[in-house]
Amino acid sequence: MPTAKSRYDLICETCGNPTGRRINHQCVECYLTSNLPSTIKNEDEPWVWANNFEPRSQFRKRTILDEATVALGRAIVDFRSKVSEDGKSVVIPLEKGRYEVPLTVEAIDKLAVRTGILGGKWLVYRVRDEIDSVWLTIARATFNRTLGTGAKVSTSEEDKAKRHVICIYTRNYLELDDVKRVRGLLKDMGFTESLCYKPDIYTYLDIYHETTSLSPCRYRE
Ligand SMILES: [Zn+2]
Repeated sequence: MPTAKSRYDLICETCGNPTGRRINHQCVECYLTSNLPSTIKNEDEPWVWANNFEPRSQFRKRTILDEATVALGRAIVDFRSKVSEDGKSVVIPLEKGRYEVPLTVEAIDKLAVRTGILGGKWLVYRVRDEIDSVWLTIARATFNRTLGTGAKVSTSEEDKAKRHVICIYTRNYLELDDVKRVRGLLKDMGFTESLCYKPDIYTYLDIYHETTSLSPCRYRE
């Protein structure tokens, strides 16, 4: 009798069990438990990642961008921008000239829509002693496709007092229903404290508490 082909036709090189998905030759559980953020030095590996295994291209906008917009988007994701001296705008140097955008929520939303840089993340902070269990909760939910599109956790800095950050990604920060859906799930998982949501474009444009008057949190809930 021919047996039905197993869904799990890959083998984890750590536990030897069959698995449907592998990360670094390991099943999800072995990958997670052998990469706990408290055990990895930040200087060796700054982040540990989890994802929902959905192809990224699925979220990409299908519209064809014009050449100037492509160049602008590339300059942004290359972290080439600088906050102006008066702190009121961001200057993005381009091969031909420069692009200046006022540091307002509206102007940056427009730039995000134009360039398609629409991802963003909820941020969760925890001390060293708590980070591993909190990360496992979020990472497992992410791999199980019951949270955001991906997640990452910062690894251990030499200064033990420094908190770890977990980023829980959503595909489009202007899709408010999805942003709130993920926030609600985090609340159900016990993250009842006030959380900051930061768009990726804010990260690329160097918008931090210290650098600009614009809040780095597009949403807080
Ligand atoms: Zn395994």
